[in-house]
Amino acid sequence: MMVIFIILTVGFVSAVFYLAQIVVLGAEQRADEDVLRSKEAFGKIIDQRDLARQEKSKLEQEAAEIFTLFDMTKEITRHTNEQEAFDIFCKKLKENMSIEDCKLMQEAINTSAEGPPSGYSAFVLKSKEKKLGALLYKGLQTKDKEKFAILAHQFALALRRLELYKDIETLAITDGLTGAYTRRYFCGRFDEEIKRCATHKSSMSFLMIDADHFKTINDSYGHLTGDMVLKEIARIIQDNVRAIDIVGRFGGEEFCVILPDSDNDGSNVVAQRIRRAIEKHPIKAYDSTLHVTVSIGLAIYPSDGKVMEELMDKADWALYRAKSQGRNCVVTFGQYKK
Ligand code: GH3
Ligand code: MG
Ligand code: MG
Repeated sequence: MMVIFIILTVGFVSAVFYLAQIVVLGAEQRADEDVLRSKEAFGKIIDQRDLARQEKSKLEQEAAEIFTLFDMTKEITRHTNEQEAFDIFCKKLKENMSIEDCKLMQEAINTSAEGPPSGYSAFVLKSKEKKLGALLYKGLQTKDKEKFAILAHQFALALRRLELYKDIETLAITDGLTGAYTRRYFCGRFDEEIKRCATHKSSMSFLMIDADHFKTINDSYGHLTGDMVLKEIARIIQDNVRAIDIVGRFGGEEFCVILPDSDNDGSNVVAQRIRRAIEKHPIKAYDSTLHVTVSIGLAIYPSDGKVMEELMDKADWALYRAKSQGRNCVVTFGQYKK
């Protein structure tokens, strides 16, 4: 009886022990699984954190690039000169990447035929397919090429803006029909030239050019033909003066020219050259060919006058004399003064 009791007790204890072992093992396994899951979750969190860090540094880099672009555009906008805009562009390049040299070629180089100079690469500056020139650069690292292209494109837009600005400025100061300066702009330049002459103790000449019997041309051939003749007269005047000379349209068929650094003899030669060129040039307008002449009055700074109004009066007086002498001639105010 006692033996049976002991055997039962031992069997019971073994069973309990076995069950307890199963429970403990199960709990351990679950705990291990929990640890594994936690580790996995932790790993994912770490990965996400790394991704977030990468994303953050990428965003910071993009923000820095956008700021550089914004900063460059803002600084360039203050300037109306290509060289100054280019200097800012170069400064920003050097601040943002390592580059040995960068030059601006205003006339677009033919990259396929001639190619950039040795050691240099070329970046063609374009805005809406319009070529604005090229950047020649060297010593740019491959990793910086994309950044360089973004800044260069922005610089191209700035160049285009400067070009448009210049076009608007030209439109504002030139006469739409003839391309000569407007009276208002011409007078401003006249004053400046007088001041310059006064400072440098030099002389200059003022020509007043008026088309002869222009009313007859309008009456005989019509106003549109008259306009074409005026355009042609302006072109001939421009072709017969130097680049530094200033041509303006004063009234309907009246042009004025300032010849800086010229005296009586020199300006007389120019005036005669203009007169002869117009006289000799048959002007084709629609189906007519016309011959026109001009009369020219000439006054010299400082001998005939020291202020603009005085010089204009003197040249106008000389022009009046040219008209009364029979037209198609040059009269200098000085020849009547003596
Ligand atoms: P003169 O030899 O004395 O200078 O004679 P003119 O006929 O040239 O002088 P006038 O001042 O009597 O006439 C100038 C003419 O120029 C009258 C006007 O119709 C014409 N004119 C003025 N402005 C323009 C223009 O923009 N286009 C055209 N077609 N004609 C113009
Ligand atoms: Mg006239
Ligand atoms: Mg006139």
